[in-house]
Amino acid sequence: MAETVPYRVEGETGPWEVVIGMEVHAQVLSNAKLFSGAATQFGAEPNAQVSLVDAAMPGMLPVINEFCVQQAVRTGLGLNAAVNLYSVFDRKNYFYPDLPAGYQISQYTQPVVGKGKIFLDLPDGSVREIGVTRLHLEQDAGKSLHDQHPDHSYVDLNRAGIALMEIVSEPDLRSPEEAGLYLKKLRTILRYLGTCDGNMEEGSMRADVNISVRRPGEAFGTRCEIKNVNSIRFVQQAVVYEARRQVDLIEAGGTVRQETRLFDSGRGVTREMRSKEEAHDYRYFPDPDLLPLELEAAWVENLKRDLPELPDAKKARYVATLGLSPYDASVLVAEKEAAAYYEAVAKGRDAKLAANWVMGDLFGFLNKNGLDITRSPIGPDQLGGLLNLIADGTISGRIAKEVFEEMFATGKDAGAIVEAKGLRQVTDTGAIEQVIDQVLAANADKLAEYRAGKDKLFGFFVGQTMKASHGKANPALVNEILKKKLAG
Ligand code: ADP
Ligand code: MG
Repeated sequence: MAETVPYRVEGETGPWEVVIGMEVHAQVLSNAKLFSGAATQFGAEPNAQVSLVDAAMPGMLPVINEFCVQQAVRTGLGLNAAVNLYSVFDRKNYFYPDLPAGYQISQYTQPVVGKGKIFLDLPDGSVREIGVTRLHLEQDAGKSLHDQHPDHSYVDLNRAGIALMEIVSEPDLRSPEEAGLYLKKLRTILRYLGTCDGNMEEGSMRADVNISVRRPGEAFGTRCEIKNVNSIRFVQQAVVYEARRQVDLIEAGGTVRQETRLFDSGRGVTREMRSKEEAHDYRYFPDPDLLPLELEAAWVENLKRDLPELPDAKKARYVATLGLSPYDASVLVAEKEAAAYYEAVAKGRDAKLAANWVMGDLFGFLNKNGLDITRSPIGPDQLGGLLNLIADGTISGRIAKEVFEEMFATGKDAGAIVEAKGLRQVTDTGAIEQVIDQVLAANADKLAEYRAGKDKLFGFFVGQTMKASHGKANPALVNEILKKKLAG
């Protein structure tokens, strides 16, 4: 396990450390809501997906959706966490126009999932463990719309009652980079499991970021909570800004007040929203309409057995059986579609070469063109075909780059491009010899210098020969023949 990524905020009076804990709300992937059968699709007409339960009509009763519970339990298992066979739904009471019942059903003292851990893959290849405190199920609220009318606000209850998993971390994160890595890794795991789509732009994953500062080695300081940050970049900006603000405040003789703040992404600053409310303000009590949630151990065991191979296991396999570096492996497993693509390319081929092409050329071109791997114009079989041509000596690695670009632009197979453009590597020693003779004849001055002891010119002759052959001469043969000629 790795030490933290060192991150220090320099103050007037010396360095400070930042301490971060994250509360992530992840919308459960499910066709129906947590306690009603209403649909959950994103982008529907306002109030088109609202049942009488979601609207809190008198006499309506919640009925728990087993699938949502299953999703939460699978997520817990994926976070290496303890699943609680007995958990309780409470009412968290507060008034809000988009919360028609006047309370949110949530889990408080007895959540469905307890302690777990998430492993961060650091750029130097090491791994850092971050504690997960708990995961509980709760309902989302509706949405107030203030921008539809000059002097009215509207309420859209489509989101009301959708199942959320709140995933709380220990205050183990120590830098903006780690905060970003934590969210990325969590999102990767949720997507592998298919329990949340992880789309922060659509709000299906949102982070509350708790931040405090301390002198290295001292006890934790008072924290502020930055609510509902909806992109990884904003989370990192919020940490940088907020840590600086707290350090400056303390060094100027002030004290940090525990409060809830907002991140203003336009200005890159955090602003006070309200002072921190306490749990007792919500008058939590067990929801009398719902029985405690009791799970059977065998049911949980079944879910555990049916989990897919998760990113950490996949990464370990790539390192152990394919010989990849831990960092390369962690990059390849970050998206399950990319991992599947890579495995298809690597199958029966040089796994490291395949990794270099997928992570380097392919990811580079996809990035530049704003495409994700599922929309790659080059399929895994096609990239595999290109690697075959390198492996059997039909083309050199350099020509392969050219062929790759053409494949990306046209979607054609490597073989067809090589034939059409006459890019086959020249392995005919006679032909190569001829080119070398021409190069030596055209550079008689350099040849004389070489013979007089300027060994470095060897590379020059190799380069000229490759150029004269339009990159098609087999480089190993060029070297070999040149050596012979120059020795003579
Ligand atoms: P609450 O229930 O009031 O939200 P918790 O104790 O559950 O408070 O903590 C919420 C989050 O705040 C957790 O993610 C936790 O890791 C984080 N946290 C707690 N103490 C600190 C601290 N001193 N600095 C930064 N984060 C903290
Ligand atoms: Mg909280």
